[in-house]
Amino acid sequence: MLSKKISDKLGNSSWIRAMFEQGIKLRKIYGDDKVYDFSLGNPDPQPPIETKEALRKLVIDDSPELHKYMSNAGFLDVREKVAFHINKETGLDLTAENIIMTVGAAGAINVILKAILEQDDEVIALSPYFVDYGSYVDNHGGKLVLSPCTKPDFQPDLLDLEKRITPKTKAIIINSPNNPTGVIYKEEVLKNMAKLLEDKEKELGTEILVISDEPYVKLVYDGVKVPSILNIFKNSAIVYSYSKSLAIPGERIGYIAVNPAIKDASRLVAGLVFANRVLGFVNAPGLFQKLIAESLDHTVDPKIYQERRDKLFDILTSLGFECIKPEGTFYLFPKALIEDDIAFVKHALKYNLLFVPGSGFGCPGYFRISYCVDMKTIENSIPAFEALANDFKNMET
Ligand code: PLP
Repeated sequence: MLSKKISDKLGNSSWIRAMFEQGIKLRKIYGDDKVYDFSLGNPDPQPPIETKEALRKLVIDDSPELHKYMSNAGFLDVREKVAFHINKETGLDLTAENIIMTVGAAGAINVILKAILEQDDEVIALSPYFVDYGSYVDNHGGKLVLSPCTKPDFQPDLLDLEKRITPKTKAIIINSPNNPTGVIYKEEVLKNMAKLLEDKEKELGTEILVISDEPYVKLVYDGVKVPSILNIFKNSAIVYSYSKSLAIPGERIGYIAVNPAIKDASRLVAGLVFANRVLGFVNAPGLFQKLIAESLDHTVDPKIYQERRDKLFDILTSLGFECIKPEGTFYLFPKALIEDDIAFVKHALKYNLLFVPGSGFGCPGYFRISYCVDMKTIENSIPAFEALANDFKNMET
């Protein structure tokens, strides 16, 4: 019954999924408190109290329009509020006509790719990257092209990027703060990238859409500011998701914000709204659209994650791991202690430590630690990290 394509993909299921299954198995054998599962990016804090309160109120008030069909772009009042919120942060002039409410970031990226790709068009992603981009591009007949970031700072490599741009390049997906590295791309690098893209568009007579996938943009540390993509790239669209900032990934809510500076932006928006419908999303969940309209100024407190980052970063560096200090997200991306990151992650299972190998993000030789776990688990995991590091120290001598 299954298509060959899906059959093949099942045989090749993601590392995150594989580690999820391993975690269940290990917990059954050793108990919850003896397994240190750093594999899943599933936010563990509760949503902000204001968001929970707003949800309660919405359910009790139960306005008649709440459960009905609406414009495929989403409720007008919600889109107005989202546009106003973006304008406050960027100084731009978006209206509700620039906003499409979506089924999370995953839904949003599929909507954009459905609307812009012809068969065999190319979409560039900067590796390490969120591996599902490959499936999203493939869903719409496109080809994913990877441009590796520089090491060890994981910034876009513009010399490499330039070589990857062809007449078939339709879009580039950027994700900053980045999953899996936690790195924020520098404003200066992004401005140079914008110049490069403009030059290439002129040279090739094409248009290249910058799709900025930003689910972690509010989870940043030490007061850093993430550069505003809409201000840097003319041909750009923001993909935002409340999965991480409000810790509600199961509710599937996000939006696309289309840069008003795009030539024929309203026609692009019409195409996106149509794609939202025919992909079968129809519209983003109504109740949660209304909820986020009440939660635009709230986020999970990033300090919760910052304390965990600090603790884990100290543990890792004191044990000799090479690792860039993340400025956001809830991930760390250290170098594995041997070249083979898959063998390294498999070895870590011996100490009930669960990670995802860098190969799962198109970046072998590294591994991802997700700190969606409480401080107690991090503290309890220290002897396991020590034993792991020790094994490889002993192997070297
Ligand atoms: N993009 C990135 C970089 C992610 O890390 C994730 C989820 O982990 C997504 C997109 C999908 O997010 P959503 O839950 O909004 O679909």
